[in-house]
Amino acid sequence: MSINTAAIVGAGVAGLTAALSLARHGIRSDIFEQVPQLAEVGAGLQLSPNASRILGELGVLGEIQAHWREPQEVRLASGVSLKALAAVPVGAFGRDRWKAPYGVLHRATLQQSLLTAVLREPLCHLRLDSRIDTAAAVAEHFRTGTPPDLIIGADGVWSRVRNAIPQAPGISFSGNIAWRFTIPTKQAPKFLNPHSVTAYLGPSTHLVAYPLKEVGGFNIVAIAEGMDAGQTWETDGQSQKATLVAQFSGWNPEIRSVIEAAEHPTFWPLYEASEGRWHNGRDIVLIGDAAHAMMPFAAQGAAMAIEDAFELAGCVATSGIPLAQALADFEALRKPRIARVRERGAFNKFVYHARGPVRLGRDLLLALRPPQGLAADLDWLFGYQAKG
Ligand SMILES: Cc1cc2nc3c(=O)[nH]c(=O)nc-3n(C[C@H](O)[C@H](O)[C@H](O)COP(=O)(O)OP(=O)(O)OC[C@H]3O[C@@H](n4cnc5c(N)ncnc54)[C@H](O)[C@@H]3O)c2cc1C
Repeated sequence: MSINTAAIVGAGVAGLTAALSLARHGIRSDIFEQVPQLAEVGAGLQLSPNASRILGELGVLGEIQAHWREPQEVRLASGVSLKALAAVPVGAFGRDRWKAPYGVLHRATLQQSLLTAVLREPLCHLRLDSRIDTAAAVAEHFRTGTPPDLIIGADGVWSRVRNAIPQAPGISFSGNIAWRFTIPTKQAPKFLNPHSVTAYLGPSTHLVAYPLKEVGGFNIVAIAEGMDAGQTWETDGQSQKATLVAQFSGWNPEIRSVIEAAEHPTFWPLYEASEGRWHNGRDIVLIGDAAHAMMPFAAQGAAMAIEDAFELAGCVATSGIPLAQALADFEALRKPRIARVRERGAFNKFVYHARGPVRLGRDLLLALRPPQGLAADLDWLFGYQAKG
């Protein structure tokens, strides 16, 4: 093993998964989280088999499954006609094909399940209300003891640890925002399918709907052009709802009614990280959104954070390899995969937001693809066996 201890900045999905993954190898971690209490913030997340497989190995999948729902398919539908364009089977088919389940859940459920496991694990030490603005500030916390061998920046898209890495990625606002609201099951229109994740596609925008057990209804997320609201995950969008409604003007009236009736929609800005180094060649490394925040078109942000955390632990736990080499190995292992996921996201964006003749061509091509063929296209993504 190349290290004995780590300091993790951020108790989000990446940070908590990293702590549990390190503990499997006997590595102790201190997790520094800026908020005094991990609150129920955020919206729905899709967790694909590549991530749920890891959560199973870490012993947290059972707890999560008590709260999530397993859709039968991930479907694409026209936002104009509401007709299904294509569907990838998940559910039992997906379990059989990718050997792990596909589920939808609230982000807070995932974070809470990881947190419960971290609090049970003697090698993990969570320090809430502990904001870390520089890597040097970590050393301050260990003034009277032994400093950690490794610092992991799992502090999300607006990472501060990133400043300690030469040629680290930069971040920029994508010009898009994610709107979010929920509809109670009783008020949900009939066209919303409770057994699928459905992405309704339209010109320059799309809307994703799926049932969430935790909210007793549907989680609706619409990706649309919008203004940067700053470093926040939950801006009250009520006063700006007109801009959302306007972006769906050419859409099916049933979808427009759903948007017009949305109560208390919130939104968050979508940032992207550029290429750059993830480690300082010595003892600091970035994972999750801090390293590679991406647009949500492939629904893989949380899954990539989970894979990163698990594989980083595997790299630094390999005996006989110096830490600097282990960090270089981690970056070399993860970068091609992240690049491929990004490419898939860019492809989805092109397909989802197509206009005019491209849209017609898209619909024809999708109609020709059998569900099993679409599933096979995702084997590299969902069937990935992370090395922990
Ligand atoms: C509050 C919140 C709500 C979200 N809601 C959604 C959602 O609804 N849907 C979705 O798809 N994605 C959401 N995300 C993003 C999604 O969780 C991430 O893209 C993904 O899980 C990657 O996780 P991460 O751990 O890398 O980053 P994050 O989940 O962003 O976690 C970063 C953690 O680091 C902490 N932190 C940041 N700076 C510091 C600092 N200086 N010192 C100490 N701690 C710090 C943050 O408080 C946070 O807990 C949300 C993220 C957050 C923080």
